[in-house]
Amino acid sequence: MLPLNNSGKLGCLLIQLPPRYKYDPNHLEEFLSLLPHSFKYAIEFRHKSWLRDETWKILSKYNVAYTIVDEPLLPPEVHVTADFAYIRWHGRGQRPWYDYHYTEKELADWLPKVKEVEGSIKTTYGYFNNHFHGYAVENALSILKMLDKLTPAQEEALKRARTHLKQAKEKPVGLGEFTRGGEDRAKIVDLLGKVMGETRLARSFTIPDEDVKIKEANLKTIDARIRDYTLKMDMASKTIVHDCGDWERAIETRQLCKHIGKVLLTIPEQVALAWVLAIHENLDTWKFQQPKK
Ligand SMILES: [Zn+2]
Repeated sequence: MLPLNNSGKLGCLLIQLPPRYKYDPNHLEEFLSLLPHSFKYAIEFRHKSWLRDETWKILSKYNVAYTIVDEPLLPPEVHVTADFAYIRWHGRGQRPWYDYHYTEKELADWLPKVKEVEGSIKTTYGYFNNHFHGYAVENALSILKMLDKLTPAQEEALKRARTHLKQAKEKPVGLGEFTRGGEDRAKIVDLLGKVMGETRLARSFTIPDEDVKIKEANLKTIDARIRDYTLKMDMASKTIVHDCGDWERAIETRQLCKHIGKVLLTIPEQVALAWVLAIHENLDTWKFQQPKK
């Protein structure tokens, strides 16, 4: 941490205490007195018993910031105990509560508190809990905008973040793939794992959507292209005709390849579920074929 600190790239170090760790002024003082002086520290309490005057006094003595929080365990109390301040927005979601996108109103409600903090010190650090959805970026830039502190570059970044979130809502990306959709989606993913193996299934998720062209997908027929490969599936005759290299081996091992997995993850869920169920229930009777040349 020292090189980061010395080059001015480290704001401060956050010390987060366990939720069940209760007030003990002697512990706190002993601990703070041991910390190296070269860093700035913020301490995050997670048990209510710490919220008392004695705590603020000890923190002030060591110039350690009380971590002002927005979270389910503690009230959003404002205490400035150092020559800088530290605010942490954890989110207000449910299981997990840090997967959360603050609304404009919720951020606006924080503005008086942020301004109160800023009145007495020079530097305020503000952090939003980040998650794979990337809400933190948009929320952090939004509150800076409300505070009239956005640089032109940040203004651009905020636009990009908002565009991204809007698109992500319409079309989930990244890990969102695994969590989007309802029960059907979960069943499809589960059954695909069984008929193609988890490793191949994981590879299906890496194929970009734009590589897949669905010509037809209903309960009778699936006709699709995946990059340069073709896939035809027929429900009545229980036939799958496909032409990738892996498929040659799949004919023996009787496992679907990543392309078929991707197609089944792309078509409407109800249709996909019917196919995956049919294949899974009677895998032995399905014909794995290559196109006739
Ligand atoms: Zn294939």
